[in-house]
Amino acid sequence: MLYLVEHFYSIQGEGRYTGVPSLFFRFGGCNMKCEGFGCEEVASDGAKVLGCDTVYAVNKEHFSKNWIPINSANELLLVLNQYDLPPHVDIVLTGGEPLIYANEPIFIEFLKTLHADGHKITFETNASLHVDFEKYPVYKECIFALSVKLSNSAEPLNKRVRGDVIYSIASNAKEAFFKFSIDTESITLGLEEEISSVTMHSPTTLVYCMPLGGTKEEVEANTEPLIEFCKVKGYNFSDRLHIRIWDQNKGV
Ligand code: SF4
Repeated sequence: MLYLVEHFYSIQGEGRYTGVPSLFFRFGGCNMKCEGFGCEEVASDGAKVLGCDTVYAVNKEHFSKNWIPINSANELLLVLNQYDLPPHVDIVLTGGEPLIYANEPIFIEFLKTLHADGHKITFETNASLHVDFEKYPVYKECIFALSVKLSNSAEPLNKRVRGDVIYSIASNAKEAFFKFSIDTESITLGLEEEISSVTMHSPTTLVYCMPLGGTKEEVEANTEPLIEFCKVKGYNFSDRLHIRIWDQNKGV
């Protein structure tokens, strides 16, 4: 069984395809917590839960009551058909960490149908979980935004940076790019070395750096220092349009 947290039709807010109309499926659950990002959300049971800006899609214990259980690929396709969409609209699979479901038959069937129907499929992933490209060739047709976590996530190094996984995805997928969330403080704390220790596993893959933050105020505070950092290092700056425009990360 899979858990779907939310779905919405919007524009892609970050990374290489910023601005492209996309239907988002946000899946529930993640193999990390990223408490270092310091976003706090109150669950319906009253618990204050610390994590990333999508903690409501990560923490199963406190938030799964609001998640939608999915028992067949058809249920996901029915979601898609609820919308009045342009043909072959881009599909973004995000989370949480969508690749926790990478070997689920329901998930594979869903991907195959999307691909057969001509949709471009992009995964937003932390790039720490193995993808079996030989067993499931449909993954070779997908795009992967590799949002590898840096030390500001407070996750252990051996969990957040899996060189073998990064290399495998970047060399097997149709397309991949790195996407890092960066705050002003990290820029002064040896960030360049950290980014290099990730990108060395696929040196030709493009790098996008985005301002960290779950609110417009936080994103704005981190924007200008990050732009200066990108200018010096030659990385691409990526905005987080959905947060800047709507000041939130849910359903937009
Ligand atoms: S890996 Fe991504 S979704 Fe999971 S906790 Fe970290 S930032 Fe959140």
